[in-house]
Amino acid sequence: MGNSATRRIAASVRQKQIRAKAFSLQRQAITEPRFVADVMLGRLAKWLRIAGFDVLYSNKYTDDELIAISNLERRVLLSRDTRLLIRKPVREFIFLKSQDIQKQIHQVFETMHISALASLLTRCLSCNETLMETPRESVRERVPAFVYETQSRFKSCPKCGKIFWAGTHRNAVVQTLQRLLT
Ligand SMILES: [Zn+2]
Repeated sequence: MGNSATRRIAASVRQKQIRAKAFSLQRQAITEPRFVADVMLGRLAKWLRIAGFDVLYSNKYTDDELIAISNLERRVLLSRDTRLLIRKPVREFIFLKSQDIQKQIHQVFETMHISALASLLTRCLSCNETLMETPRESVRERVPAFVYETQSRFKSCPKCGKIFWAGTHRNAVVQTLQRLLT
């Protein structure tokens, strides 16, 4: 038996063990789930932030850091790495089965029983900070004139200062998220 076949079998054994391990999370109803995403899942982290979820992500986190953050802050660890997820200290996690971003989002929503997005567009997608209402007059010099004239409400990120308004995220993005709800 070649090396690659051995690796495939080992991977499928790990996946089976991970499925058994993941069972407890699927039965819990966590009202406001928080996440930490591994280095491969930057896109998923961004989409979940747009949907309003608190998702920690850094391409510098080591496996040990990911596990520590997940356990200390009770964040669901998102990963496609079976070697990481099979480690003993890993408790709450979702093993993302697909590389397809829409399937990944749907799997998270389904596993966490998320059927509505109460906090849609309330979070900075770069920093993960909760956006703050910002008086319209104060953004006049910081947004395009057309935006200033046509929008009445603005929010800004307390960390990076980026300004958001209703049209920041295209409708298509929001529609995609709604469609992926369970
Ligand atoms: Zn920010």
